Amino acid sequence: MATCDVCGNEYVKSFEIHIENSVHTFDSLECAIQRVAPTCGNCGCRVVGHGVEVGGAFYCCAHCARIVEPRVAARVADHA
Ligand SMILES: [Zn+2]
Ligand SMILES: [Zn+2]
Repeated sequence: MATCDVCGNEYVKSFEIHIENSVHTFDSLECAIQRVAPTCGNCGCRVVGHGVEVGGAFYCCAHCARIVEPRVAARVADHA
């Protein structure tokens, strides 16, 4: 039994996500996404797939990366 970092729910099937040196506890993937998933630097949606990282910023897709960083992201392949 552990308590969710986001909503405070105590749940027997809670799980941990380890990122670098910190550990986060969640009761659901929805809470985990809210806390852990990066936000697209262009459209602001949550990046829950592979996404694209350009110049230290995350984007949900190559299209968004190209809008913000047209030169850097010119050759970024779209995983989506
Ligand atoms: Zn929760
Ligand atoms: Zn986007």
